[in-house]
Amino acid sequence: MGKSAAEKPAFATDAVHGGQKPDPTTLARATPVYRTSSFVFKSTEHAANLFALKEFGNIYTRLGNPTTEVLETTVTALEGGAASVAVASGTAAIFNTVITIAKLGDEIVSASNLYGGTYTMFDSILPDLGIVTRFADVKDPSTFEKAINDKTRLVYIETIGNPALDFADISTIAAIAHKHGLPLVVDATFTTPYLLRTIEHGADIVVNSLTKWLGGHGTAIGGIVTDAGTFDWNKPKFKAFTEPDKNYHGLRWAIDLPPELARIAFALRFRTVPLRNLGACLAPDNAWFFLQGIETLHLRMPRHAENALAVAKFLKKHPKAAWVRYPGLEDDPTYKTASRYLKKGFGGMVVFGVKGGRKAGEKFIEALSLFSHLANVGDAKSLALHPASTSHSQLTDEQQLESGLSPDLVRLSIGLEDISDILADLEQALAKI
Ligand SMILES: *Cc1c(COP(=O)(O)O)cnc(C)c1O
Repeated sequence: MGKSAAEKPAFATDAVHGGQKPDPTTLARATPVYRTSSFVFKSTEHAANLFALKEFGNIYTRLGNPTTEVLETTVTALEGGAASVAVASGTAAIFNTVITIAKLGDEIVSASNLYGGTYTMFDSILPDLGIVTRFADVKDPSTFEKAINDKTRLVYIETIGNPALDFADISTIAAIAHKHGLPLVVDATFTTPYLLRTIEHGADIVVNSLTKWLGGHGTAIGGIVTDAGTFDWNKPKFKAFTEPDKNYHGLRWAIDLPPELARIAFALRFRTVPLRNLGACLAPDNAWFFLQGIETLHLRMPRHAENALAVAKFLKKHPKAAWVRYPGLEDDPTYKTASRYLKKGFGGMVVFGVKGGRKAGEKFIEALSLFSHLANVGDAKSLALHPASTSHSQLTDEQQLESGLSPDLVRLSIGLEDISDILADLEQALAKI
């Protein structure tokens, strides 16, 4: 059965085409890299209209670029959102999201099981800027409700969090946020829009680190934020949207714009206030790398998930593995929740404990040969990290345990190699401890 031309393209078609169209000037089929800092104005009126948001167009690559715009349109389609803004890293996407919404004296409520850099940002950098984070337990959604107060401006979760890969009950947490008139911001990096479209479950803003599975080849750093276009910012507590913005001609983003633009007030303010004035823009070359990666996202993610499940099952039975966490293992503590949301696989991350603790963990990592020992995830190549001896080595064993990290924990990002070679490498490395 064919589909009518009016129907939206399927995911795979959007991954391949998305915002890509033959270049209007050269008719190039692949999206060109527009390696230019700035764009010529047609007239002074054109220039004035661009700056006043009366007309959309290119001004300066820090604010936007045609190559980057193709990436933004593509991710908007894949996430089922209304508008996206790409930036220099996933980390910059998260920081700029928070400061687009929250101001000095405001608070945010966040799950505590976060990517390491995000945890540091929320736990110690934002408080220095006068934005306090209250942490909640993703395994108990009622703790989010308890942490919300009059000063809260957003609720933040990751789909699959660190370090134990606990899965968040997104729609329940979204309902709590919405009951209190707050937007839900979801970091969907570990699932990507292929495995889960979080907007369909109540996310108002989605953050993705492009560096990981969307790019998929470990070649560039980037991040992107997608505005679902669903959240109504016209409430007194969102001063950044309802009071005259001294950073942008005194505009009241949720009040003065026509409805079709007020709908994407978050994306517009994100681009024109923090991105424009703090400068974490994505290089057009990197946008182009991410477009190449996204074209095969729908082919890569099923294999990442299939290989990761096979690794989790292998480790589960292995006498040298003390424990294994993978949201797709049927006896995993968050399997029940995860399986309600994830119908196409449970992602590419597996964590496990090596019997013998920290020393055994170090030995295991050194014995791996197909796996690369490095601090990244979401590459086509399999990767391994022993956080206790690397990213978290400045903490004592006791502090590590407090942050949910046991000294024996090994983090695996399962790649696209043949599963027999992945398992053989794990087997020979486990045999050496
Ligand atoms: C990597 C990562 C980030 C940070 O992204 P960068 O592109 O490295 O800045 C944020 N969240 C998650 C879940 C990540 O894996």
